[in-house]
Amino acid sequence: MQASSSEAISKQTSSLQEVGSERVLSQTMHAYPLSGSPWNRWPSTRRVQIPILPEHPCCDRTWGLEREDVRWKDSLALSIQRGRVQLPTRGPNRKEILGSIDQVTHRLYHAARMLQTYFDNPSLHNYRDPFIETMYIMLTWRTRIPDAEANLNEIMLSFVGPCDLTEEEALPLIRKIVSRSGFVGKRPEMLAELVRRFIARFPDGNTSVMESWKDDQILDFLTGIPGIGRKSALCVMMYSLGRPRFPIDTHVGRILKRTQMLRELITVEQNTNHKVLQANAELAVPPSVRRALHVGLVSLGQQRCRPRKPLCVKCPIAAMCKFNAARLIRRASKAPYNLVDLFCGAGGFSEGFSSEGFRTVLAVDCEEVACDTFRMNHPQLPERNVLCEDLARRQVKSLIRQCVQWKELIEPGRVDVVTAGIPCQGFSKAGYRSRPGIKYDPLDDPRNLLYKRVLLWIRDLQPRYVVLENVPEMRSAGNKDMRILDSICKSIRKMGYQVHHGVVNAYDHATPQIRLRIIIIASHRSVSEIKLDELEEYAKKGDVVCKAFEGLPRLKSNSGSWYSKVGDVVITSHVSRFNNDEDLRIFGALRPGEHYEQFITRRKDIIDDRRKSGTHAVYGTKSFSDKYHRLDAGSPARTIVAHLKKDGNGYIHPSEARSISIREALRLQGFSDDYVLCGSGAKQYIQVGNAVPPPLARDIARLIAHHLRATKKRRASKM
Ligand code: SF4
Repeated sequence: MQASSSEAISKQTSSLQEVGSERVLSQTMHAYPLSGSPWNRWPSTRRVQIPILPEHPCCDRTWGLEREDVRWKDSLALSIQRGRVQLPTRGPNRKEILGSIDQVTHRLYHAARMLQTYFDNPSLHNYRDPFIETMYIMLTWRTRIPDAEANLNEIMLSFVGPCDLTEEEALPLIRKIVSRSGFVGKRPEMLAELVRRFIARFPDGNTSVMESWKDDQILDFLTGIPGIGRKSALCVMMYSLGRPRFPIDTHVGRILKRTQMLRELITVEQNTNHKVLQANAELAVPPSVRRALHVGLVSLGQQRCRPRKPLCVKCPIAAMCKFNAARLIRRASKAPYNLVDLFCGAGGFSEGFSSEGFRTVLAVDCEEVACDTFRMNHPQLPERNVLCEDLARRQVKSLIRQCVQWKELIEPGRVDVVTAGIPCQGFSKAGYRSRPGIKYDPLDDPRNLLYKRVLLWIRDLQPRYVVLENVPEMRSAGNKDMRILDSICKSIRKMGYQVHHGVVNAYDHATPQIRLRIIIIASHRSVSEIKLDELEEYAKKGDVVCKAFEGLPRLKSNSGSWYSKVGDVVITSHVSRFNNDEDLRIFGALRPGEHYEQFITRRKDIIDDRRKSGTHAVYGTKSFSDKYHRLDAGSPARTIVAHLKKDGNGYIHPSEARSISIREALRLQGFSDDYVLCGSGAKQYIQVGNAVPPPLARDIARLIAHHLRATKKRRASKM
């Protein structure tokens, strides 16, 4: 580069010397006096950096939109209602329209943040000055970005200022410079004309006045320059003038087509035609994310989502990509076993079973946010097969009818396993049952009778195996005439199943947490019987807390990031909650593994100070014996519960004075780092607390797969 630049400069100088001096030549060619003209020197080549997007949790509908997006949403909804923009589904009412816009908006917020974090707020080396940026964009036609940059640098080294580019004699040198990167065409002439237009429009060289122009005025001026189309003009507006525009170049167009991110607002036909997409896509993208999303998609297109053989395995937005989903669905279609996941929650059962060759064909939960999480992390399941429905209110058949794909797999005799993590709040020690003075009959709590709905599914689908999970307290729930557990087992037996149940510790199944759960496994008479103690064959102790937290960034109380990069993965929700100073003092003084009861006798001084200050309650140990607890780095964690949504005092980090983050809770539950939870912080804590640990689910899946294979072999040998 250095050598070629100096060569170019010496050639240029000699060509100018042939006709006299450089200045004399310039002054004879220009229509205005050039002495002292600002166009005799190059403007600043300062680069643009796209600002970091404000953070909030993935798909959190409670958070609301960024301020600039609120007006955009209203006007877009109005345009759709008036027929100016077409939704894929025709004739929706306003509520449906707003719902569709919200869906697209949250998806794009998430994608933009993922990409910005993954590529570390990428810079595509664009320029702050609109003139230099326009030249640069012209030089990028059919040219790789580094070559275009080198060409621009060489032109700037070879000519004293933009004025010189307008000379006839300059064309051969420009041609020579740009020809090194391959494509020349009419670029030298167009570059010269570009400079002329800028000089004529801004004789004082002050191109920054464009910042005060209206969008249409800028578009008119830029698109009037030969060789600058609408897309290039939008790029200049976005990069140099900071306008919230969304240019669709080949990378962006390709990724939008593949991911179908705008599917609720852009029809399939619009999505497949690049020109139509260019004209319509910007409308569907919220202004606050346009710039970051564009830069992220271009970086993704250059590095991962290549025109041929995209690297989907290393793609940070693979979970929301329809192209990838189609690939996964095709692969899942070959899976040997089918699974129906009832009360699926965040998807712990499906996550564990999928790693053992099971394909989830239907997932149901009544929580919208849990369904969002499920869809986000299980792209291999068609979106419409994740149903947000109240199982207590809907009949089995009417729910199955709602699925658009794989209906034939959700028929009696086709389902291999039905899993259900039946809601346990009514049975749990952490619930009403533990509260002194509250008379609580589990049989009066409708949540505790939801198991009856699961029984209907078992009756209608006749799966080969059934796996139910709940808290151990379920064993004693009920009254002396009817224990709920006995009632469940009896009902399933009546349907032709052999039923076994027992308490399993997730720690024995590769989960870094002591988590006792009752597991009920029912085997249909047509398949080999599974006894729960067979699960011990797959036992493997989980990690201790410090191993589980390995590699996570250190945090203070009330800090962290909803999106951060660890290694090559973007992790979400590594955020710690706020704690007041008095709680922080207790956190700092707690010993690893110490409980509140022990602490209160060892550090009376702290408790007395707290009592004297009177600003915060001092809890007794009778009802709150586990009010504060520090995790021990060298042991497995205590059971992760949904109560974490209220406070994390019972889960203090082993070496930092704060409660654990959502990501740390996910690690203690055995979820992988690319698992993304949707919704507000509190809702994420609930989802993680209620989840079935995937490693435990995986071991159950292994056991069932082993029996299914054995049954198949036995049948084959009989034939
Ligand atoms: S998952 Fe694959 S096809 Fe989809 S955006 Fe990523 S790299 Fe492209």
